[in-house]
Amino acid sequence: MKRFILIFFLFTIHFSTNFLCAQTTIDTIPFTMDEDEMMDHTDSVIFFPANGLYSGWDTTNIHTAKADMKSLNDSVREFALYSEHNCGYVHPFSGRVTSKFGPRKKRYHYGVDIDLETGDSVNVAFDGKIRIAKKSKSYGNVIVVRHDNGLETYYAHLSKINVVVGQEVFAGDVIGLGGNTGRSRGSHLHFEVRYLGHPINPTEIISFDDKKLVSNMLCIDMATFDYVSEAKKAAAKNYASSKGKKVHTVKKGDTLSGIARRYGTTTKVLCKKNGIKATSTLRLGQKIKL
Ligand SMILES: [Zn+2]
Repeated sequence: MKRFILIFFLFTIHFSTNFLCAQTTIDTIPFTMDEDEMMDHTDSVIFFPANGLYSGWDTTNIHTAKADMKSLNDSVREFALYSEHNCGYVHPFSGRVTSKFGPRKKRYHYGVDIDLETGDSVNVAFDGKIRIAKKSKSYGNVIVVRHDNGLETYYAHLSKINVVVGQEVFAGDVIGLGGNTGRSRGSHLHFEVRYLGHPINPTEIISFDDKKLVSNMLCIDMATFDYVSEAKKAAAKNYASSKGKKVHTVKKGDTLSGIARRYGTTTKVLCKKNGIKATSTLRLGQKIKL
């Protein structure tokens, strides 16, 4: 009888820690939360994930300020992607990758594009809390989720958002539906991974062929951001090739700051040349002098 009670007890514990997960395929390298972290969860009045790493919980600006990576210590730079206490990893959408992270024509692509049909369900990759759920000119309907380890994942161009800011989500939850909103040509999911504001190549942690994690551990070092110099070179090359070009025709999703970045100039210069304000609304087809 005692043995039966023990088995029942263990089963109950296992079930209760995982019952919120949409999918419980946990292949885990165990790590445990220490007491301080436990205290953070229960003691803070407004708890937000990774509050020791971020200076705040910004629910307005899609991108958080980029942290100085040199100031981070080694223990912060190596962390688990999920623990035995949570729902593991679920692939956001099982589609074909149509565009990788890296330089793309005239601008750097800070995410991975996955092909889908408008209305397809988009899953959140890890447990976390919704920091952003709104419409943006470039990202379209976009959701940003912050995770306990400090990573943030972005889901853009959605046709529908199913979540609200501050909502707790679990890996595999359908947070929205795929679409073609914002600066997008054809329905797809633009998926980004960022750490303290810095984009990370999602393939560092996810195999898009196998639709699972490469490893449970992520180690961030300066090589993780080697692409930055590549991005700067791409911007410089674009600027050089745009020198002969005198105007930019406004397309869907364009913003003044985005156009400035693209041509290696500043919003201030563009405002002056075009007699407009930084806050002016751009019209489709409008010619912006460069
Ligand atoms: Zn994209």
